[in-house]
Amino acid sequence: MQKLLLVKYGELTTKKGNRKVFIKTLCKNIEKKLDGIEYKIEQNLSCMYIYINSSDLDLVLNKLLKVFGIHSIAICEKVNNNIEDIGNKVVDILKNKKFNTFKIETKRSDKTFSINSLEVSSKIGGYVLKNIKCLVDVHNPDIVVNIEIRKEGTYIYSDLINGIGGYPVGIQGKGLLMLSGGIDSPVAGYLSLKRGVDIECLYFESLPHTSIEAKNKVLKLAQILNEYSSNIKVHVVPFTEIQEQIYKNSVDSYIITIMRRMMYRIADRYSKKIKCKVILNGESIGQVASQTLTSMVVINEVTNTPVIRPVACMDKLEIIEISKKINTYETSILPFEDCCTIFLPKHPIINPEFKKFIEIEQKFDYEKLISDAIDNIEIINIKNEKNDLL
Ligand code: ATP
Ligand code: MG
Repeated sequence: MQKLLLVKYGELTTKKGNRKVFIKTLCKNIEKKLDGIEYKIEQNLSCMYIYINSSDLDLVLNKLLKVFGIHSIAICEKVNNNIEDIGNKVVDILKNKKFNTFKIETKRSDKTFSINSLEVSSKIGGYVLKNIKCLVDVHNPDIVVNIEIRKEGTYIYSDLINGIGGYPVGIQGKGLLMLSGGIDSPVAGYLSLKRGVDIECLYFESLPHTSIEAKNKVLKLAQILNEYSSNIKVHVVPFTEIQEQIYKNSVDSYIITIMRRMMYRIADRYSKKIKCKVILNGESIGQVASQTLTSMVVINEVTNTPVIRPVACMDKLEIIEISKKINTYETSILPFEDCCTIFLPKHPIINPEFKKFIEIEQKFDYEKLISDAIDNIEIINIKNEKNDLL
C-alpha cells in the first residue's frame, strides 16, 4: 500500500525570483532526510508530492516535520479528473471522520476540466449531503476538504499538519556556530538553520580542565541540531595552552574578555578557511559581564567577519522555551564544566579598557598559539557519532 503526501512550501513562495533555487534546495534536503527509505518525489512550483509505503508514514512525517522550508503537509488521495471519482473519494474520506459541518474548497489549475471551481465545490458538497448526515458551513466549518484539480490528477485532502516553516537549510550558505554546552548557543544554531544558514560548529576544549563528558555534551547537542540539517561537523579547538597563557599573564578581571577575544580570532580565521560566511554564537545582551555592549565591542574588534547573534535580544526565559521545544534543554543543563566556567574570575570586568587588554595580550605570542590551535583542530562528522554519547 502506498501513501501520498502533499508538501506545501513555506515562506519561499513569496520569493518569486528565487523560487526555483528554493525548491531545488528543499528537495535536496528532503532527499537527504529520506535516505534509506523508499520514496518518489514529484514537484512543481507550488507544492511537492511524495509517494511512500504506508508502513513508513510515521517515520517520514517525523523527519519532514524537522525540515525547514515546509509550511504544511497533508496526507492526500489522488483520483482521476472526473467528478464521480472525486465525489466518491470525498465521501470515503469524510465517512471516517467525526464532524457536524463541512466546507469544500476547490482549486482548478487544469482549466480544461469541464466545470469551474465553485461548481465543483457545490456539486461535491451536494453529493456529501446526500450520503452523510451533516451540514455545510462556509464560515466556520468543523472540517474543510480541499480538492485540487491538476493536469495529472485530482488531489484531495482534509487535515493539514503544520510544518516548521523557515527557509531550506543551505540556501544562505554556511555559518560557523560557536557551540558551547550551554543553553544559548544550540538555540542560536537552530534559529540560524531556520533562516536557511547551514552550520558548522566550533567548540573550544580545554583538556584536562574540561572533561570528555563536556565534549560529548557538545557533540550530543550538535546531534540534535543535525536533525534539522544533515551533515553537521564539530570542529574541536585545543584551547588549553591559550587559556593557560591568558591565566598566567592577565589580571583576574580581564581573563574572560581576553579569552573571548582569542576565541573570536580563531573563529575569524577558521571561518575563512572552511568557507563560512559569518560567525554565529549564543551571546545575549547583558546576560553576563562579557556580553555588555561595551564588552561586545572590544571583543568583536578582533574580527571583520560578520557576527550574528540570533538570541541577542531575547530574555533567558524565551531562550529556554525554545531549547525545550527543540529538545536541547535537558542536555544543556547537564553539569559538565565548560572552558568559560573554569578560571572564572570573581569580578569580571564590565567596562574593559582598550589600553589594558592590549598591554596584557602583548605579554605572550598568541599569534603562534592561535596558528598551532587551528592546525590541530579535530574534525568530527556528527552523522558518524553513536547515539549514546552521554
Ligand atoms: P550558552 O551561552 O550556550 O548557554 P554559556 O552561557 O556557557 O553557554 P557564554 O559564556 O554565555 O556561554 O558564552 C557566550 C557564547 O560564546 C556561547 O553562547 C557560545 O556561542 C560561545 N562559547 C562559549 N564557550 C564556548 C566554547 N567552549 N566553545 C565554543 N563556543 C563557546
Ligand atoms: Mg550564555
